[in-house]
Amino acid sequence: MNFDVIVLGAGMVGVSAALQLQERGRKVALIDRRGVGEETSYGNAGIVEREGLLPMAIPRDFARLVRYAFNRAPEANYHPTFLPRIAPFLWRLFEATGRTGLEAHARSIDTLGRFAIPEHRRLAQAAEVLDAFRDTGWLRLYRTSRGLAADALLHDMAMRYGIEHRPLAPDEVRAMEPDLKPGFHAGVFWPETQTVTWPERVSKAYGRRFEALGGKVLRGDARTLKREDGRWTVVGDEGEASAPVAVVALGPWSVDFVARFGIDLPVAAERGYHRHYGTERGARLGRPIVDVEAGYCLNPMERGLRLTTGIEFADRDAPATPRQLAQIEPMAREIFPLGAPVEAEPWLGSRPATADGLPVLGPAPGVPDLWLDFGHGYLGFTLGPISGRLIAEAICGEPTLVDLTPFRAERFGGGR
Ligand SMILES: Cc1cc2nc3c(=O)[nH]c(=O)nc-3n(C[C@H](O)[C@H](O)[C@H](O)COP(=O)(O)OP(=O)(O)OC[C@H]3O[C@@H](n4cnc5c(N)ncnc54)[C@H](O)[C@@H]3O)c2cc1C
Repeated sequence: MNFDVIVLGAGMVGVSAALQLQERGRKVALIDRRGVGEETSYGNAGIVEREGLLPMAIPRDFARLVRYAFNRAPEANYHPTFLPRIAPFLWRLFEATGRTGLEAHARSIDTLGRFAIPEHRRLAQAAEVLDAFRDTGWLRLYRTSRGLAADALLHDMAMRYGIEHRPLAPDEVRAMEPDLKPGFHAGVFWPETQTVTWPERVSKAYGRRFEALGGKVLRGDARTLKREDGRWTVVGDEGEASAPVAVVALGPWSVDFVARFGIDLPVAAERGYHRHYGTERGARLGRPIVDVEAGYCLNPMERGLRLTTGIEFADRDAPATPRQLAQIEPMAREIFPLGAPVEAEPWLGSRPATADGLPVLGPAPGVPDLWLDFGHGYLGFTLGPISGRLIAEAICGEPTLVDLTPFRAERFGGGR
């Protein structure tokens, strides 16, 4: 089977790239070992946001560092045996997220973020899945004045970048969400943020649209990819697919994959869990909330309230240790009358995160006709469609809507 481009990985990032290439007249094969959107893009918190201006950063204040050192912080947990392996990544992250680094990060990420919502909605409209998007915005809640003060930089940046947000007193928050329990200090409302009612439904609708327009979705192992006579070939369930160009969009599995080509990138799996819950006495939540100091998000979804955790540093493939979920569940019950869990076991996935918090977008260093589109960290569901557009523009030789320089793999100095 001959194609113009093979896209490896059918999460939100890969399926978006495939659609965007197809819009530019390319014949595309999309390869995944599972169905469309069934891994990380399945289990996220479903937030499509522009205010993700700050990367996950190592705290610089002593009290938080001590909490982290004792592995007590619900928002960030680690497997102690994994620390020596993750230490070089954490050190790079520490270096990259000083004040100057944070400003530079915000400038770069906003070049993508400002197009993220319109690009998603455009694809969603074409794929007839706009009904999964809600215009309700979301609420970030603070338990203490200290917690609110710690987000001052985010609020200041949001103001500078023109991202609307409104500080709310507790009674104003409860006027919006009457079933929230009292006990928090303040809230901030972000009205522009879109939230989806079931992330997998969105990815699968994009996949169906891609197939309806003649795209081919194949089951197969990306690791069968070979280069022969100037073409890439990969083995799918319907035979061998071949194309002159390939795109790596394997989410948290991308880093191992590109290592085969001598490309060494500081990308770590930041694991996270979710579980759905019912509610007590018909309580309702109209929009997602983030309990900022506890580091979790609660999003009303199609199968219940989805409670998602912060970060767990552990081997991507190590068995699940949902300690954070056990920590935050009682905290979530302090804020909202959660009912019983829907599933017996929590879901576990991994955010594919780079050491500077920016995705990797652009050509693979030293490997002809191989393109990279991964490392979107906690924003991959948001940034999939705009990243796909930029990669498609670059592959097709069009001017890119956004300068890709800050996102190129070469910034890490790796590669061959
Ligand atoms: C708890 C949690 C909450 C999150 N919340 C949000 C949020 O609210 N908003 C947001 O924007 N982002 C969020 N994220 C991040 C977001 O989910 C990810 O960044 C995004 O899903 C990454 O998409 P992807 O397509 O790169 O990866 P994936 O969705 O993981 O897709 C990669 C695909 O590659 C396939 N694959 C891997 N190896 C192979 C192989 N060898 N052969 C064939 N196929 C292979 C996999 O099967 C998979 O389908 C969250 C993440 C977590 C874990």
